[in-house]
Amino acid sequence: MASGWWSMGPRVAAFEDAFADFCGASHAIAVSSGTAALQLALLAAGCGPGDEVVLPSLNFVAAANVVTHTGATPIFCDIGGPHDLNLDPGDLEAALGPATRAVVVLHYGGFPCDMDAVRRITDPRDIVVIEDAAHAPGATWHGRRCGTLGLVGCFSFFTNKNLPVGEGGMLVTDDDAIAERVRLLRSHGMTTLTWDRHRGHAHSYDVVTEGFNYRLDELRAAIGLVQLGRLETGNAARAQIAARYRAALDGVQGLQFPFSEPEAQEASAHHLAVVLLPPGARREIVRGALDRRGIQTSVHYPPIHRFSAYAARSHRRLPRTDDVAERVLTLPLFPQLEADQVEVVIESLLAALSAGAGAR
Ligand SMILES: *Cc1c(COP(=O)(O)O)cnc(C)c1O
Repeated sequence: MASGWWSMGPRVAAFEDAFADFCGASHAIAVSSGTAALQLALLAAGCGPGDEVVLPSLNFVAAANVVTHTGATPIFCDIGGPHDLNLDPGDLEAALGPATRAVVVLHYGGFPCDMDAVRRITDPRDIVVIEDAAHAPGATWHGRRCGTLGLVGCFSFFTNKNLPVGEGGMLVTDDDAIAERVRLLRSHGMTTLTWDRHRGHAHSYDVVTEGFNYRLDELRAAIGLVQLGRLETGNAARAQIAARYRAALDGVQGLQFPFSEPEAQEASAHHLAVVLLPPGARREIVRGALDRRGIQTSVHYPPIHRFSAYAARSHRRLPRTDDVAERVLTLPLFPQLEADQVEVVIESLLAALSAGAGAR
């Protein structure tokens, strides 16, 4: 604030450079939200009316809303099943058609999607891959950071994410033309920025496309720089807590954890601690019992294809998504969560299940 320059300027540039470095990407472009990042990624990749974009229904609704806003049609695909909440490559392939322009993959809960299988399907057909990496800053796939495994990776700095700023987002890409287009779309399609003109680097500007105001401001970039420095220790703390939940609960009273391979846990950013309740368990009763003990839980996610805005237009059957969506429960997970608090969550969940919420 003391610098006197509050909108997009040197701190945004420093945050972008540091984030690009962290990911190992040529370009990082800061925007006002993860949703804005996804929208600009789709637009820069050329998605528009007449195109179809395939994405898993088990994601946050933003991913589908932005597809709709480009004029393209979202087509939903199924997940692997209770063991793998990422998209199922076989069903992705089945969802493709002649109009498919792009696929938006999610790294659910921070666990990397099988990007080799996805690219084997998309590359021969020239289908663009956009990563919704909102859960996955710091996660890796065969040693490469999530967000750098497709054409564009999109991150969110919303309050509850691994790199929280309040609001904010970032796109990363190695493609110079995509980066240039995203930078234009971020600020009204103008060819020069206020900061450039302030420094005397430009006196006027042209408008070459119909852009948006999706800029990030200096205050958020300053916070983001500090938070980026804490990301890896935070992710490590999340991993420890997630491992404790898994050790104490997996296989107990019918509870089941997805992503059980050690490599998946090693690679994950551990954004969410998701457990699957036994089939037929009464999730709202479990959640109520935990809530009465001061434990917040949530559900990631009510599937997009079942929301009123999408149900009438969604015709593909997604049986594994439908099954798992009834059973997922997200437990508290944040780096500052203390060991004794984790034990209270574990005891409370088991108590709720044995009190009858686990029964049909
Ligand atoms: C948070 C989130 C978004 C949207 O990000 P915002 O910064 O809140 O706009 C999109 N996709 C996923 C998977 C998310 O978790």
